[in-house]
Amino acid sequence: MTAWAVEQESRSGAYRFSMRMTRVLHHSVGEHQEMLLFENELFGRVLMLDGVVQTTERDEFFYHEMLVHVPCFAHGRVERALIIGGGDGGALEELLKHESLRQVTMVEIDQGVVDFSKEHLRSICGAAFEDPRLELVIADGAAWVAETEQRFDLIIVDSTDPSESGPSAVLFTEAFYRNCAGILDEGGLLVSQNSLPFSEPQALVGPFARIRAAFGAATCYRVPVPSYIGGEMTLVLAAKDGALPSPADEGLEARVAAAGIECLYYTPAVHRGAFALPPYVTRLLG
Ligand code: SAM
Repeated sequence: MTAWAVEQESRSGAYRFSMRMTRVLHHSVGEHQEMLLFENELFGRVLMLDGVVQTTERDEFFYHEMLVHVPCFAHGRVERALIIGGGDGGALEELLKHESLRQVTMVEIDQGVVDFSKEHLRSICGAAFEDPRLELVIADGAAWVAETEQRFDLIIVDSTDPSESGPSAVLFTEAFYRNCAGILDEGGLLVSQNSLPFSEPQALVGPFARIRAAFGAATCYRVPVPSYIGGEMTLVLAAKDGALPSPADEGLEARVAAAGIECLYYTPAVHRGAFALPPYVTRLLG
């Protein structure tokens, strides 16, 4: 019998998205979340946490390239970065391609996701977890950010979607965002995944207002992700003291060309275009 993995849109419950599982590679219910890894003919290996697709082998490049290269190239010289969540290693792998990067701390709550990605998702994380620039901390990201004395040029919040009962709810609070603003260096940037504005608008509306309150200003940009229920996703960008980089930045092409990073989705033109927001999104930003 054919088995299907089903994700249900959480707001109305009126929309389901399913993927045929040709092989289940792992299924467990751990201390923090339920983990499912399976193979699908179109998407390759698919990782689901608590019934929500996190990443797939074939379309991870859309999300990870835009999550990482937009803030990195907007900043211009990221040397110290912090990833909150991101246990699949996809964002880490993209970040490590930037030669300016000297040190990256990843604070992931679930060691199981990291171990599991190293074992089953090497096509996504590559050798990123073995890179000497990485310091891996297994802890709650919000608690860690509240206590650290380290400073960063870039903070990437690569979390699961907010849900009242899930471990990531603390990563969408104003207290967390204020603590992030406090550990950014001059010119520092924060980027956060803020779900899908069509199917999950509440995951953008509240967190966007809190990020703006904590940083003084915020903007967002879009990326399509075929395996995410609802299609296009919004990533929120904020800067230390509200000094947001402009997408019209004239130095962008030169910086991207000098870096020589091969991408499947990201280009300077895609970078600029991603900040063009349609009215259905700007209305959510208030
Ligand atoms: N790309 C994905 C998406 O948009 O849904 C996110 C992928 S990544 C696997 C999300 C990670 O966030 C998970 O590994 C989860 O364990 C981690 N996470 C959730 N809550 C966290 C917290 N409070 N602190 C640190 N990591 C957390």
